[in-house]
Amino acid sequence: TDALRARDLYRFYRSGEEETLALRGVDLRVRYGESVAVIGPSGSGKSTLLACLAGLDEPDGGTVHVGGERISHRPEAERARMRARRIGVLSQSGNLIAHLDVAANIRLARTAAPGTGGPSVHALLDQVGLGHRARAVPRELAGGELARAGLAVALANDPDILLADEPTGELDGATEQRILQLLRSRALAGGGVLLVTHSPEAVKIADRVITLRDGRAS
Ligand code: ADP
Ligand code: ADP
Repeated sequence: TDALRARDLYRFYRSGEEETLALRGVDLRVRYGESVAVIGPSGSGKSTLLACLAGLDEPDGGTVHVGGERISHRPEAERARMRARRIGVLSQSGNLIAHLDVAANIRLARTAAPGTGGPSVHALLDQVGLGHRARAVPRELAGGELARAGLAVALANDPDILLADEPTGELDGATEQRILQLLRSRALAGGGVLLVTHSPEAVKIADRVITLRDGRAS
């Protein structure tokens, strides 16, 4: 099985007379141990694709499987359960609860998927180099620390696939490199990693690059 497999994805948006075909038959595969970058101009369908892959949106055609289990065309409650157990989402807007410290944010993510037996909170913090920041709340963290805390939360349940949406968009060079190396390590450790990015540096760490144009992947 693959960490992530999308087959022949279609997504239409209708608003009044207007119809936009945002995805037109996208096929995509991320194997365990592989990192894949998705690039493409604004309006090419990247956000729509990510939403369908994460089970936040339903494609109008085609299927999405994560870790061999179908997530598309299922009731929202089942998609949410799969999202918690099999998918890690990392975005620059952050996936952290503001009033909880870093350790509590990780524990909260773990309660969403009981019994998955992911790494311990301490192991996760050490992995991202935040062992000393467990008690800090998000506003006390610098940009790079925030991104690493977000990564620890995204990896809290040892997901089949990590979906990263422009993960280094707001980071400076050295800080970006640190995050990219962590994403690279995740793939080397056997996880699936998919990153949507504009960053040439991020593209460099990917095993494969997929370009979206007008809803088609190549
Ligand atoms: P980005 O290119 O930064 O990923 P977009 O500007 O394409 O983001 O989209 C931002 C949000 O606006 C998304 O939630 C998307 O679904 C929505 N959106 C984009 N284009 C339209 C549109 N023509 N009509 C309504 N919503 C749109
Ligand atoms: P990207 O993330 O690459 O910028 P999007 O997935 O946001 O691309 O958008 C793909 C196409 O779908 C664009 O033409 C956009 O305007 C359109 N679109 C996105 N979201 C919506 C929406 N909610 N309603 C209508 N059109 C949308």
